[in-house]
Amino acid sequence: FVNNVDEFFRFCADNDVKFVDLRFTDIKGAWHHLTYLLSALDKDMLSNGLPFDGSSIEAWQPINKSDMILKPDIETAFLDPFTADPTIIVFCDVFDIYKGELYEKCPRSIAKKALKYLEESGIGDVAFFGPENEFFIFDDVQIKDEINESFYRVDSEEGEWNDPSRNDDFGNIGHRPRTKGGYFPVAPTDSMVDLRAEMMQVLEEVGLEVVLGHHEVAQAQGEIGVKFGTLVEAADNVQKYKYVVRMVAHLNGKTATFMPKPLFGDNGNGMHVHQSIWKDGKNLFYKEGEYGNLSETARHYMGGVLKHAQAVAAFTNATTNSYKRLIPGFEAPSILTYSSQNRSASIRIPYGAGEKATRIETRFPDSSACPYLAFTALLLAGIDGIKNKYEPVGPMDIDLFELSLDEIREKGIQQMPHTLREAVEAMIKDNDFLKPVMSDAFIDAYKTYKFETQIWPDESRPTAFEF
Ligand code: GLU
Ligand code: MG
Ligand code: MG
Repeated sequence: FVNNVDEFFRFCADNDVKFVDLRFTDIKGAWHHLTYLLSALDKDMLSNGLPFDGSSIEAWQPINKSDMILKPDIETAFLDPFTADPTIIVFCDVFDIYKGELYEKCPRSIAKKALKYLEESGIGDVAFFGPENEFFIFDDVQIKDEINESFYRVDSEEGEWNDPSRNDDFGNIGHRPRTKGGYFPVAPTDSMVDLRAEMMQVLEEVGLEVVLGHHEVAQAQGEIGVKFGTLVEAADNVQKYKYVVRMVAHLNGKTATFMPKPLFGDNGNGMHVHQSIWKDGKNLFYKEGEYGNLSETARHYMGGVLKHAQAVAAFTNATTNSYKRLIPGFEAPSILTYSSQNRSASIRIPYGAGEKATRIETRFPDSSACPYLAFTALLLAGIDGIKNKYEPVGPMDIDLFELSLDEIREKGIQQMPHTLREAVEAMIKDNDFLKPVMSDAFIDAYKTYKFETQIWPDESRPTAFEF
């Protein structure tokens, strides 16, 4: 790990590095790369940046203004654990040569701007984010059959799926978790022990601080817990985490997916996001003796997140599939309130965390989000809440999954959107809170991209279930 360009070249020499892999993230969160031969690069090229075609990235530049620059963030350099030849990966920001500034549609640059905005607001010096990305591990055959099959599971009882007497096609499925049966029997029911162990070790190699790994509630579902970081660090870590989990699975003949709801009738994949704001080395979210030991600042932050949640969802729950996860009964929230310890609320306050660790856990986001944009949207909603002293609805300490639709309506409780269209339309109406950091051109490009690549294609297709 290096601090400047000189150290970078020294590190490369010491480690026999042959290739420099420049990486950047598009607006849907996909990681892209461009590989240079180390010997073709010099100090100036790394400091000034390297050109690429910005018109070939979705929703970015028109063809007649396609030249863009990748600016390496040299202290993010780390060795790629998967390449045959020694290769060093560097996170890059995208620079707009036409405007002479960081590109308004580069998610990583937007995230940097968000942290700067927090500082300039005087509210805090830094925002910490701790995402928890869940995933499924499928065999190639399994993914096809299970997903096809799950379309037609319209009238079966939960659990029937894994009843060996009813699943002749799947061979011997003894020692397999049943629906919601994965949390957490030991091996051989948990068949992913070695795979997760390999993932955890590779994650450490690329610089993440791993805390724990475990099977998750659904069949074939896993999670690896890593240490939180500042907004940009945490989003960088999500990119590394997805890369490592997908690659280790792939190299073991499996497919990892972060898709929010791959299987009907079982839990989905969340990306819970833990958050706190600090100033002068103090956690602004902590106040002993209050509900959940939460300060007024934390309460107003939650007030902002909950008030803008429907618009924030356009970023945190970024696919049509996201909304199939946000239904009662699967530990994914639909109701916009907060509560201590309660996994049915949109925001949970982890129990008894102490001064340093007191934080809020926003439970609706999922890994289909671009992490830079998702964390930015959450932070901006929270800052707006602090500025306007919004009080969150709650706390509601009951099992919110038990509420009837009538009760929800009578109590005037707000819910998450039910579709990506609702989320994007909410964002079209409610986006002033985003504007200190996201430009009009970016918001417009994001909206158009979501309609063209997801909402309309999805709405116009008959599904297997409809047949
Ligand atoms: N998988 C659940 C979700 O969809 C979360 C389970 C948990 O609390 O970790 O968010
Ligand atoms: Mg989990
Ligand atoms: Mg969690």
